[in-house]
Amino acid sequence: IGRVRLVMESALTARDRVGVQDFVLLENYNSEAAFIENLRRRFGEGLIYTYIGSVLVSVNPYKELEIYSKQQMERYRGVSFYEISPHIYALSDTAYRAMRTERKDQCIMISGESGAGKTEASKKILLYYAVTCPINAHMATLGDRLLQSNPVLEAFGNAKTFRNDNSSRFGKYMGVQFDFRGAPVGGHILNYLLEKSRVVHQNHGERNFHIFYQLLDGGDDNLLTTLALQRNPQNYSYLVKGNCPRLSSVSDKNNWKVVMKALSVIGFAEEEVQKLLSIIAGVLHLGNTQFGEGEEGETCITTETHATNLLGVDVSALGEALTHKKLTAKGEEMITPLNFEQAMSARDALAKAVYGRTFTWLVEKINQSVALQVGTTPYDCMLLIGLLDIYGFEVLQHNSFEQFCINYCNEKLQQLFIELTLRSEQEEYEAEGIAWETVQYFDNKIICDLIEEKHKGIISTLDEECLRPGETCDASFLEKLEDTLGGHPHFVTHKLANGKTRKAMGREEFRLLHYAGEVNYNVNGFLDKNNDLLNRNLKEVMCQSHNQIVSYCFRREEVMDQKRPEMAATQFKNNLMKLMEILGSKEPSYVRCLKPNDAKQPGRFDEVLIRHQVKYLGLMENLRVRRAGFAYRRRFEAFLQRYKPLCPETWPNWHGRLADGVSTLVNHLGYKAEEYKLGRSKIFIRFPKTLFTTEDALQAK
Ligand code: ADP
Ligand code: MG
Repeated sequence: IGRVRLVMESALTARDRVGVQDFVLLENYNSEAAFIENLRRRFGEGLIYTYIGSVLVSVNPYKELEIYSKQQMERYRGVSFYEISPHIYALSDTAYRAMRTERKDQCIMISGESGAGKTEASKKILLYYAVTCPINAHMATLGDRLLQSNPVLEAFGNAKTFRNDNSSRFGKYMGVQFDFRGAPVGGHILNYLLEKSRVVHQNHGERNFHIFYQLLDGGDDNLLTTLALQRNPQNYSYLVKGNCPRLSSVSDKNNWKVVMKALSVIGFAEEEVQKLLSIIAGVLHLGNTQFGEGEEGETCITTETHATNLLGVDVSALGEALTHKKLTAKGEEMITPLNFEQAMSARDALAKAVYGRTFTWLVEKINQSVALQVGTTPYDCMLLIGLLDIYGFEVLQHNSFEQFCINYCNEKLQQLFIELTLRSEQEEYEAEGIAWETVQYFDNKIICDLIEEKHKGIISTLDEECLRPGETCDASFLEKLEDTLGGHPHFVTHKLANGKTRKAMGREEFRLLHYAGEVNYNVNGFLDKNNDLLNRNLKEVMCQSHNQIVSYCFRREEVMDQKRPEMAATQFKNNLMKLMEILGSKEPSYVRCLKPNDAKQPGRFDEVLIRHQVKYLGLMENLRVRRAGFAYRRRFEAFLQRYKPLCPETWPNWHGRLADGVSTLVNHLGYKAEEYKLGRSKIFIRFPKTLFTTEDALQAK
């Protein structure tokens, strides 16, 4: 805060046409209508960026804009930029300079719904650093590797969805380390919640992860023969569910080349790439594995499958493991046959596990390649900028376990936002010697507790229900929730306190009143998704694989270990805790991305859609917290420099103390005591109107 503070010199006069470039300057900062009108005006003028103090709001233009060139980067570089319009480069540069001058780690948190432009924003920031930062001779290739990690992660972790042709199906945090000269010297990536279910199922009009189609379209004939693949995606049951084999907006063939090149830049050996592709092909073949009934009514595999070969495992062992389940009860092992449906779902569980773990392996490999090399730079001189590209609040027609996790993550991020914003506001007030004024805001801790509290919270209840012996199901989970949480002010089900039912709600739903608004979750599948079970005998087979990636992903220790691994929601919760710690130790900047329409088209500003996002991103709350004290602040010298022509005693030059000069100037302008305060080095102005009047006086002169 106080860093990305702009003064709207140029825009002030044009503010009727292009709106204000910082929402804190809106007259009526409580009005959502004024907020949206300001966005609309700017969007109409091709201005996609606007600030809320240090928060950058960005609207996806859905067309290439001429604002990302190298010349543009130069414009923003090192400029104390109140005369430059808001830009992702300004935010990048400010974070970078703050890191260097204040010697503090930074993080840039990017949020927004799918298709709003988060990933594009993170790429632009990364590119900005790659182009403008000095280069460390030891690590000359680092920038390339970091940049090339994007196409690789996108091939394996992105897919076409209804909302975005290139939608990231995982959350990503990337930390970039800089040496004492400000050159990037290392990086690391953390990944969150890959949407594994996509491997085996896609909704209509959606696709599986890009890599499958890239391999089929781009791989040469020899490769495809080796992998026993046919070119047409329609041959693979894991690729036909969405009925959407091709994309008009991207060429799988070209991207295949880009990805193969990127893998080699990052340092993957040819052999490793072969093994990786074997797994991808293996998953496709696994999907085509069919089951039928044997002579004695037992479930057996009826198709000839290349999966075993490609995954490096024994045919009969895998066949056995796909059709049987091994249980240990009272120290004794029991083998029970699976029925047809169970065998199908064991197969799908295996495909998801293999793909998910391979993705994690891929991230680890990239991390090894971009890791800081010991000895290149003294560790204590190191500084870091973290980039978080993570799904914003998701409110779909049907919300399930995935939306629950994502929205929980956003509650945590909001909590961090409030904490960090208030903290930095307070710090600035203290540094300037101005009395702190309490800010009224909604503390969403109550919702975080509702979800994550030990024993009583939703996640604990879910875990317990997964572990409880006997007949448990999604419905019994919902009942448990009602027992423990009924009456909680942020938790609602169809049951009313008086025993009647709430008509508007289904019997399989619970509703959370998130800080950003209400979301109904359907409990169907919660238990299965949280369990994320893979039969132990399948793990046993996989850990004996000849494919080193597969055997690396399925460790012997895991099979030997009798303890139940953490469940999905708890795992996510623990990962989130770690993430909050990482982010909380840094100076934050925020990018809030908005999607202007559902048609992915340029020039269309759908107000209903925007209003929804403004709400669920909590932008009005952002603004309120930012505006709670003073709308605007500015260093004495800058303020005096600009407005000194308005006062005879400060014109043409003021010769006393700066603070006295500012004081003389504002007295002459007739500022009232409640309109402003003078700190040690800055003037704080409470209302935008005061500033506008002064600016208009200057323009009239
Ligand atoms: P998200 O990561 O939020 O789901 P993306 O960053 O993948 O969304 O953006 C979706 C699409 O929108 C991109 O593929 C691109 O076509 C377009 N887009 C996003 N940001 C920009 C931008 N700044 N300029 C031009 N097009 C953009
Ligand atoms: Mg994305």
